[in-house]
Amino acid sequence: MSLELFAPAARLPGGWARDVSFVVDAEGWLLSATPDSRPTPASERLAGPVVPGQPNLHSHAFQRAMAGLAERVAPGGGGSANDSFWSWRETMYGFLARLGPDELEAVAAQLYVEMLEAGYTAVGEFHYLHHDPEGRPYGEPAEMGLRLLAAAQASGIGLTLLPVLYGFGGFGGQSAGLAQRRFLNGPEALLAIAARLREALAGDPQGRVGLAPHSLRAVTPETLREGLAGLATLDPDAPIHIHVAEQTREVEDCLAWSGSRPVRWLLDNLAIDRRWCFVHATHMDEGETRDLAGSGAVAGLCPTTEANLGDGLFPAPGYRAAGGAWGIGSDSHISVDPVEELRWLEYGQRLVLRRRNVLAGASGHLGEDLWAEAAAGGARALGRPVGALAPGCRADLVVLDARQPCLADRQCAGLMDAIVFAGNRRAVRDVMVGGRWRVREGRHEAREAVRAGFDRAMARLAG
Ligand SMILES: [Zn+2]
Repeated sequence: MSLELFAPAARLPGGWARDVSFVVDAEGWLLSATPDSRPTPASERLAGPVVPGQPNLHSHAFQRAMAGLAERVAPGGGGSANDSFWSWRETMYGFLARLGPDELEAVAAQLYVEMLEAGYTAVGEFHYLHHDPEGRPYGEPAEMGLRLLAAAQASGIGLTLLPVLYGFGGFGGQSAGLAQRRFLNGPEALLAIAARLREALAGDPQGRVGLAPHSLRAVTPETLREGLAGLATLDPDAPIHIHVAEQTREVEDCLAWSGSRPVRWLLDNLAIDRRWCFVHATHMDEGETRDLAGSGAVAGLCPTTEANLGDGLFPAPGYRAAGGAWGIGSDSHISVDPVEELRWLEYGQRLVLRRRNVLAGASGHLGEDLWAEAAAGGARALGRPVGALAPGCRADLVVLDARQPCLADRQCAGLMDAIVFAGNRRAVRDVMVGGRWRVREGRHEAREAVRAGFDRAMARLAG
């Protein structure tokens, strides 16, 4: 059975259109989006303007359970050099000791419900928590990834699962520490996990499997090449994500190891193209910024996490001027809201440059351009046909709540400006993913049941 929808207005790839009819087939594919149309008797009339669902290209689901735990001042005092990404990482490692498959699934389900209610309709899971707390593989080595898949399927969110290749504790093949033992796999074991996850997802248009070398700290050139070659035999177009240049110390260590900065090393030593997502890429010189933009790779930006961890500011103006693709991720999940990511992406630039509308794009409406560019880049990074209301894409759409005060009298072109910069209450009303309604009137269909499971898991984690 196909589905007919009629929206008073919708943000199509060419811009806003009025009186848009959508046809969605039984498998959740968008067959058509026709402006200036009339509803048929079979049409479901949508309650407000429609925008494409936003992909969330970078998530570590388990970190939702520790959001807020790392805001206590470290020894040495707040703002000291001790209180940094590296001290946050110690808190995270300590938290992991009690987290098993049941807890991971419950925390991920809660997170995905929150994502859907915020307007994220697809997520990229950068998944490195593979083994049990002692570092032994589970009986099913892909257990933890399968639990993430179960959580995604229960919530309805689209999933790109990126099992992480993590073998070492620092550049040049340094041994990993005890706290990292749950993460460690050689290329062969990791590729077996990827193959198992692909099998579990076979034929499901709501998911995709790629691979993520954790960072240049966690692989050697040999294991990296072996992992990528293995992935290419599984799926030559599969997405590849890597954390890169998030911290200045990482840049210094990479220079000491190789003589190159990390983004430069990747560009010079691998065939970087549209399959790649460079997560953070915060610390780049002008040449790296230009060449990454020209490669077709996506910069995976996580503004609230990068701010929370004191990482630094992505060189967004130069990167966009060079035509670079980008998308957003909620990463550590201290915030689960695409509006906040987009707002802080722009505000960080304004505060540093002392100018306004720094990231303005094609339409001249900043909020609209940020949403559309992030959706397009996010879709590329997740390797799935999402991020646009166009035939051939998944029917992932967000119906905005036109009753919000910030939207009073806003014409279509200004709607997303108001939401991104003045929407302090959530403006997401209904959310469809792959042709199925998951959120109505701001509430996910399984909100209460999922929340109860999350509360039980959190009680166990608290011991
Ligand atoms: Zn990350």
